[in-house]
Amino acid sequence: MNLWYTEQEAELIKLSFRTEKVLFSGQSEFQKIDVVETVPYGRLLTLDGCTMVSDHDEFVYHEMISHIPALIHKNPKRVLVIGGGDGGTVTELTKHAGIEEIILCEIDGMVVDLCKQYFPNVARGLNDKRVKVNIGDGIAFIKKMKGELDIVVVDSTDPIGPGEGLFSRDFYKSVAAALKPDGIMVAQSESPWFSKEILGRIQNNILGGFTHKKSYVGAIPTYPRGLWSWTMAANVPFDQRDFDRARFGKIKTGLKYLTEGGITAAFEIPMFFREKIGQLEG
Ligand code: SAM
Repeated sequence: MNLWYTEQEAELIKLSFRTEKVLFSGQSEFQKIDVVETVPYGRLLTLDGCTMVSDHDEFVYHEMISHIPALIHKNPKRVLVIGGGDGGTVTELTKHAGIEEIILCEIDGMVVDLCKQYFPNVARGLNDKRVKVNIGDGIAFIKKMKGELDIVVVDSTDPIGPGEGLFSRDFYKSVAAALKPDGIMVAQSESPWFSKEILGRIQNNILGGFTHKKSYVGAIPTYPRGLWSWTMAANVPFDQRDFDRARFGKIKTGLKYLTEGGITAAFEIPMFFREKIGQLEG
């Protein structure tokens, strides 16, 4: 048998993985969900044909989206993750002993159930007693919160389908309103290789809610463009060099991607990306 799983990105690029077995293929209320066992990258989750998570390198995405804001925030206690139904971001956040509550708001309960079944290591943090799982639309959920969160992590799908509203100006305004004055938002902000038009729109919308923002990057071979970005935003200035080194020391055992020097290095984004998003300084 010669089975391949192909992700087709925007009818422009195809990335194929030699596959041993289709473990699950079905349609939820919101999206098509597939879990396949690939030869090079182990288990792979795709939603509407877009790669979300692979056993091979999920740690890059999840360490970058969780530990960087958690270490730059001075004392995070209450964190909301929107999207992130695979549980990987929550699992990383549970490594911070000082975090008292982690709320996960994922629109699609089927993603959570399938990830617990097929990606138990990624999803293991969902069993932590500080974690509350809410199945529902993150856009509606966050509107009910006012000035009460230390960190909001937007761990969304791409800006198509159910994830589209998670990139809108109004949504970022709601995130800003839900945060405490010194709160931090971090959002996955797509590949630096995407068009200036897509990236510029996301960055411009973030400015609808926040006065300060900075993007950072990491390399994820499972995604068709390889290089990925996240954007951190706040309504107070922040400096990535001021992250809490003592707290990093407590969580570093077991990390597979982030190093102490890697936190500031991640913000040294390539020149072509700086030009696309207008982040020429710092
Ligand atoms: N690692 C990821 C990637 O490739 O970008 C993101 C993973 S996570 C699986 C994204 C999740 O966001 C999906 O499970 C999807 O159901 C969820 N999602 C999309 N729109 C949402 C919304 N409006 N509210 C809450 N969750 C949403």
